[in-house]
Amino acid sequence: MTAVTVWNEFVHEQEDEAVAEIYPDGIHGALADVFEAAGHDVRTATLQEPEHGLTEPVLDETDVLTWWGHTAHHEVEDAVAERVQQAVLDGMGLVVLHSGHHSKPFTRLMGTSGDLRWRDVGERERLWTIETGHPIAAGLDECFELPETEMYGERFDVPPPDDHVFTSWFEGGEVFRSGLCWRRGNGSIFYFRPGHESYPIYHDETVQQVLRNAVEWATPTVDASRAELTNAEPREER
Ligand code: ZN
Repeated sequence: MTAVTVWNEFVHEQEDEAVAEIYPDGIHGALADVFEAAGHDVRTATLQEPEHGLTEPVLDETDVLTWWGHTAHHEVEDAVAERVQQAVLDGMGLVVLHSGHHSKPFTRLMGTSGDLRWRDVGERERLWTIETGHPIAAGLDECFELPETEMYGERFDVPPPDDHVFTSWFEGGEVFRSGLCWRRGNGSIFYFRPGHESYPIYHDETVQQVLRNAVEWATPTVDASRAELTNAEPREER
């Protein structure tokens, strides 16, 4: 069982009826259901809560944090973004979703802009599993489709990933690296592209499988605090 914290800025669902219809309990509510059904210990946190719901004790108790944000990245306090960054370096897993490519925690951890090309006209997306043996691709076919999506196209301004699990193709012709893994410090980071708020992407069973796999993959397995990275006595006499 993994302690999962699902973070959502929770703005579109409160301002746009069409989005609220797709996600009546918020995107965080839909994602929490997916992880709870997988047997995890789940809590949610939103932008509107004090310290955005991401206090030191909450992050201390979190194995994996998932992040959905879009329109209010700038409203996330720098101190909270820095706390998330530090928690990842200390070993917390981070799953960044869709428009979270421009979030403060993600761009801080990447050291790049996270910029990309986009177009929202409801195009079909076909995701190819590039690394069929990767834990995040467990149980998936070699490709799967989402009937209506917002297009993201290359170049995606991120550093070269450690693993490249999925590539997307869109009806308009663009391609995009849509499932990427990095290690930062002791923490594992996965970016997953699908998830625009005006399409029911997180109700898709294959997308839910990817998210469950990602949480398991990002769960810390070792206690990083055991390494004493200080001035060291020699192990041999000289
Ligand atoms: Zn979007």
